[in-house]
Amino acid sequence: MIGKIHSLESFGTVDGPGIRYVVFMQGCPMRCLFCHNPDTWDFNAKAKYEMTPDELFNEVIRYRNFIKSGGVTLSGGEPLMQPGFAEEFFKLCKRKNIHTALDTSGVIFSQKAVDVLKYTDLVLLDIKTADDNLHEKYTGQTRENNKKFLEFLQEISKPVWIRHVVVPGYTFEENRLKALAEYLSQFSVIEKIELLPYHTMGKFKYENLGIDYPLKDVKDLTADELKTAESFFILQ
Ligand code: SF4
Repeated sequence: MIGKIHSLESFGTVDGPGIRYVVFMQGCPMRCLFCHNPDTWDFNAKAKYEMTPDELFNEVIRYRNFIKSGGVTLSGGEPLMQPGFAEEFFKLCKRKNIHTALDTSGVIFSQKAVDVLKYTDLVLLDIKTADDNLHEKYTGQTRENNKKFLEFLQEISKPVWIRHVVVPGYTFEENRLKALAEYLSQFSVIEKIELLPYHTMGKFKYENLGIDYPLKDVKDLTADELKTAESFFILQ
């Protein structure tokens, strides 16, 4: 089994607790307007790394001392586009007691995705919007699976960190943020809510790929705006 991997980061500090080895998988079925990794979208594009779960694990284990306070994170793109690979890799990690985090948009909710969760310690669930009508406009996909995914995580008592990008003129709206906070308040498995300020650092990637950048006129979220957004949530 070969995994298509977009990139590797051996010293990640923002994708889960502690210092982590982060694996960015190739391919994503979403097309978020504010995505800063459009270079991960195309599953058929040439991946930087093509590895078996064992090969990846052998790479990770070299950093064992660095990541002992953290662990590994599978991110993307959408790691659940390659669920068999994710399951095998996490299984190897769990055998060596390495903490596993899955960074997903929850857009793929299948039996195979559920199988990956058996070896997942923490889910970093991206919620793009809590508004059913806006979800498809913002991401190209309906919100259905994202909701089912979180409901299932609650059912199996899986720890979750929520991640939400705050974008001026899109998700940075009092009503929308309050609706999201209200929706999330019913899930006791949520340990943390991370609001991520929108930035334009991924813009050059669109230019390189020859894709029109959809949020041309949108500015970075300021620190004050982020504070305002955070005031609607109980954050840990
Ligand atoms: S889910 Fe993530 S990788 Fe996929 S389009 Fe959205 S922001 Fe980009």
